[in-house]
Amino acid sequence: MRRGFLPRQYETEVMQTESGYMKALKCRECGREYPLTATHVCEFDFGPLEVVYDYDRIKRSLSKAAIAERPQTMWRYRELLPIAHEPTVGRQVGFTPLVKADRLAKALGIREAWVKNDTVNYPTLSFKDRVVSVALSRARELGFNTVACASTGNLANSVAANAAASGMRAYVFIPADLEQGKIVNSLVYGANVIGIKGHYDEVNRLCAEIAGKYGWAFVNVNMRPYYAEGSKSLGFEIVEQMGWRIPDHTVVPMASGSLLTKIQKSYQELVKLGLAHESSHKVHGAQATGCSPISTAQRAGLDFFKPVKPNTIAKSLAIGTPADGFYALRVMKETGSTADDVTDDEIRDAIKLLAETEGIFAETAGGVTLGVARKLIASGKIPAKDSVVLCITGNGLKTLDAVNGHAGQPREIKPSLREFEGILSSDERSLVNA
Ligand SMILES: *Cc1c(COP(=O)(O)O)cnc(C)c1O
Ligand SMILES: [Zn+2]
Repeated sequence: MRRGFLPRQYETEVMQTESGYMKALKCRECGREYPLTATHVCEFDFGPLEVVYDYDRIKRSLSKAAIAERPQTMWRYRELLPIAHEPTVGRQVGFTPLVKADRLAKALGIREAWVKNDTVNYPTLSFKDRVVSVALSRARELGFNTVACASTGNLANSVAANAAASGMRAYVFIPADLEQGKIVNSLVYGANVIGIKGHYDEVNRLCAEIAGKYGWAFVNVNMRPYYAEGSKSLGFEIVEQMGWRIPDHTVVPMASGSLLTKIQKSYQELVKLGLAHESSHKVHGAQATGCSPISTAQRAGLDFFKPVKPNTIAKSLAIGTPADGFYALRVMKETGSTADDVTDDEIRDAIKLLAETEGIFAETAGGVTLGVARKLIASGKIPAKDSVVLCITGNGLKTLDAVNGHAGQPREIKPSLREFEGILSSDERSLVNA
């Protein structure tokens, strides 16, 4: 049963302070603190800024019992998300199904597999709805009317939809050669869609210039410290849905590398708050071979990646100069995790495997995640006796181009029973012979 959005006592506590449970922004390199405005880099060393929370206050407000009473959305972990007041954008986002994937586990040869199914996230069918609802709620708190982003597709979709629903103006910048499904899914909401003739890293560079010149909330530029925190909700949900247990292995697709670092942060925060037990869990990174700067560096044992020019069907992950690549490598090193990458053919095979075993149609990024998980299980890096959660982050209906022509064709017949029975008996013959 849904009560009011949040318990009254909790609302009062949030209103006590202008910054909610946040304390400051803090440089990840030198530790200097900054006020909670729309800013993302340290003035001294250009280090990325990150939100710091008041964990003592959070501990007094956030318990398993309190969470259980709240609506089934990502906002049930509200204290650990970087907004000062009630969310005003994307209030229904999150709490997507965690599917016990027994048929998939059998196919992979592992004891326990789960699919965190963000292909059905609200409203635009990818995990980006999480980060956007946080960034836009915070942008409104800071008084912005225009929002913008540099995107590989899903982010543009989510910014466009959520801006439309909250009456904000949106400019979304994408590489001009994205999948048709991703482009239409931004245009339909009335957003200003700008296709850049270049790859994502060039889009991103242009957006840094535009963000410096216009007073807009660029969700993944000047709003990035808030935006990125939204990814933690995926990890919080996984742990709660597993009965407050951190899975032995989590396999995460990497574009900028941000999601991987935030899943790790979400697990650490739950441990810090006493909501989950410390465990020797691993968080493995997945990339496409055609754009694998992070996994290549990880496998070579390097702390830094070398930028690449992307060439893969996994366009949502095609970032050649990943902003959080360095930190993703550090998380994998600290947790003894690994990364790997898969070819376009392996991506398509994995999309089909997930669809045929679990009835879930993922986009190319999902094929990357499952394809890499399959490799890590085959090589024993994920032992068969362990549990694994696959983060399936986007919907296959948006990347039909990638699978079209590879999933077979319908067999066409005249509207005649005799023709159909001809097909059926040949199907049955091949079943008997199989
Ligand atoms: C953006 C995106 C990711 C990962 O993004 P990061 O930049 O690494 O946080 C994963 N899957 C899909 C489908 C995405 O759109
Ligand atoms: Zn600094």
